[in-house]
Amino acid sequence: MDAALTKIPILDTRPETESIWPELMQSVEEVFKSGQFIMGPNVTSFENEVATYLGVKHALGVNSGTDALILGVHALGLKPGDEVITTPFTFFATSECVSHFMAKPVFVDIDPNTFNFRVQDLESAITEKTRGIIPVHLFGQPVDMDPVMDVAERHGLWVLEDVAQAFGAEYKTRKTGTIGHAGAFSFFPTKNLGAFGDGGLFVTNDDAAADMVRIMRVHGARKKYNNEMVGVNSRLDALQAAVLRCKLPHIDDWNQGRRQAARRYTEALKDVQGVVTPVEETFGKHVFHQYTVRITGGRRDEIQAKLAEAGVSTMVYYEKPLHRLPVYAGLDVSMPVSELCATEVLSLPIWPKITPETQDRVLEALKEALA
Ligand SMILES: *Cc1c(COP(=O)(O)O)cnc(C)c1O
Repeated sequence: MDAALTKIPILDTRPETESIWPELMQSVEEVFKSGQFIMGPNVTSFENEVATYLGVKHALGVNSGTDALILGVHALGLKPGDEVITTPFTFFATSECVSHFMAKPVFVDIDPNTFNFRVQDLESAITEKTRGIIPVHLFGQPVDMDPVMDVAERHGLWVLEDVAQAFGAEYKTRKTGTIGHAGAFSFFPTKNLGAFGDGGLFVTNDDAAADMVRIMRVHGARKKYNNEMVGVNSRLDALQAAVLRCKLPHIDDWNQGRRQAARRYTEALKDVQGVVTPVEETFGKHVFHQYTVRITGGRRDEIQAKLAEAGVSTMVYYEKPLHRLPVYAGLDVSMPVSELCATEVLSLPIWPKITPETQDRVLEALKEALA
């Protein structure tokens, strides 16, 4: 088939997989031969390596990013009836972990340029029931964490960072996920650091929180068959840990590739009418898990359909803010910026090794659709 007619996916993980193929196959083979599939030396080594990379005391592999959030809020002491402040513009798991414990997510609306919640509005959302804050570094863009930590400290709240989309991103001199009391990462295959299946990571500098998650992930047992509390089965498996160990040394390069591609898109789109390009905060390092523009003038769905016709896959993250989901039908709140963004956002194809030629095809199709 003519290369110009091939469909452009939203994400192509194959080039990065191919670039580490020999070590990947060797590691996987070693796991198969070892017969050790759950926990074990690969998981421990990965936990040590990733803790060093992030600059955090404890890193604990779990089954998914969702489990890292659920075990995280539990370890930080969430109880039924408590309130937790977060963004409505994110994946459901961010607030699901709160609702899971019969606690209440309280939403703070977002900034339309960064898609992250407005830190200046946090304080007015606090009530006597508020216990924590879950900032989400959405699309790989760091949240302004100093004001978040400042509010948390003044009101005695914990902060659990949802870093599912921001592995390797930085806030000032620190890695996102290590600034709050704890952080929850996802290794879902489409994330910046993706496994070949589900996986997640809980990180913290707090010994008590780490101890709780370490016990909780294995049925509440510090010692086998000596269960001290009701836990869950949520472990990172050895195969995923082996894959992640092969990928971790390359993550900075790969994130840099995303940043370069993002800059290229932004440069090419800066004078194009009807598209608002994403703003990069200057206090940190955005890792562009997604490159998300806003299509103004009520044309988003039309533009997305035209791009699809031209063979360019795009995605809408997120078509409904969380407070508009059926599960929260009882919550009677209005978040006008999130609601508007939900009708305007469009994520374009991006991955570490996307070629300039592929980007040019996306850009041409987008400009043509807007004309
Ligand atoms: C992907 C994601 C999660 C959940 O991670 P899983 O590993 O899929 O459970 C949580 N929060 C955000 C913001 C995500 O993008």
